[in-house]
Amino acid sequence: MEDIKSTDSEIFELIKLEEKRQFDKIRLIASENYVSSAVLQATGTVLTNKYSEGYAGKRYYEGQQIIDQIECIAIERAKNLFGAEHVNVQPYSGSPANVAVYLAFLKPGDTILGMALPHGGHLTHGAKVSISGKYFNAESYALNRETGLIDYDAIREQALSCQPKMIIAGHSAYPRIIDFERFKTIADECGALLMVDMAHFAGLVAGAAHPSPIPYADVVTTTTHKSLRGPRGAMILCREKYAAAIDKAVFPGMQGGPHNHTTAAMAVAFKEADNEDFKDYARQVVENGRTLAESMMANGFNLITGGTDNHLLLVDVTSKNIGGKPAAKALDQAGIVVNYNAIPFDPRKPGSPSGIRLGTAAVTSRGFRRKEMVQVGEWINAVISEPENNHLIAEIAADIASFCKDYPPPGITV
Ligand SMILES: *Cc1c(COP(=O)(O)O)cnc(C)c1O
Repeated sequence: MEDIKSTDSEIFELIKLEEKRQFDKIRLIASENYVSSAVLQATGTVLTNKYSEGYAGKRYYEGQQIIDQIECIAIERAKNLFGAEHVNVQPYSGSPANVAVYLAFLKPGDTILGMALPHGGHLTHGAKVSISGKYFNAESYALNRETGLIDYDAIREQALSCQPKMIIAGHSAYPRIIDFERFKTIADECGALLMVDMAHFAGLVAGAAHPSPIPYADVVTTTTHKSLRGPRGAMILCREKYAAAIDKAVFPGMQGGPHNHTTAAMAVAFKEADNEDFKDYARQVVENGRTLAESMMANGFNLITGGTDNHLLLVDVTSKNIGGKPAAKALDQAGIVVNYNAIPFDPRKPGSPSGIRLGTAAVTSRGFRRKEMVQVGEWINAVISEPENNHLIAEIAADIASFCKDYPPPGITV
């Protein structure tokens, strides 16, 4: 980083501060992780200098001798890792990947059916503020009010009545495994395509710690930077029969030139994910989720669905006489970084909801296991029990910073 330092000391200092923040704090934001030094290095290469509109062998600019090889390697590795027939690795991120899928299969005004945003769906699954809710007739399914679980019978009835052209499964805040086969049966029954957005749990699928949607879905989208632990980016995996439609929708439909430095970093991340160590990682992520859930429940917290099967927990903190937002703010002060989150049928407003969302992908990358997760649960309880005790919070922040020194995360050398 010597050159950033001499060219732009202001940005250099800020990068160093962010590095320190990521080192010193317990990062429980469910969509975040720590990528390896190898992935970081690939993103900071001359590949960023090259324009490559099109696909390998069919580019619009010359000079693709090397880029074509890199993109083909990324695609082959992704196909192997997930058992997919076709993969497009060019989407800039998860949201444009989803929009590209809609562009491939839908016309404006067509009906789509996705999980409601306040129940754990993503903006791009049909939220009214999103292009997906503005350009399409977006219907949304709710979770079961009593259990907080996906209600497949209710979704089936809703799908048969609204006749969507596409059903979207996948989430940003649902702590349980999805029955992909059931979704496919429902989609087939009403003649809809099934898209699964596995952005959050793709790393668990790659590491065989979560069922794969690939055998069931017509098309699968995912970010590469969440549990999959790659660079910021996304991909679309589909059956061969949809390959041409998907590729055309990504380019020239949605995007111009692919981010080749990201493609190379994806290839590196897919190689890292294709071994026993990553399987151990994925298993440990789920195990750590379970341990944190037990610790939270033992401390009197109310978990939506009563636990977790994946890397995330959704916690209703109102039983502790606090809202999600002040809880998240107090935790951040103490060195535990989470986000406030709506819970299903949240009686409070979206700007100040009842819940917090916790994820274990990042802390597992830095080596947290059972003992550490129990400790994290204790700290969370201590902070949320006395969110205005600044003395206590400062003490915990210091304890956490010193605790974190024993768990150096990938990609950060201090
Ligand atoms: C994070 C996420 C996305 C969007 O990813 P961005 O890269 O932030 O655009 C899409 N779908 C789901 C389910 C997600 O959780």
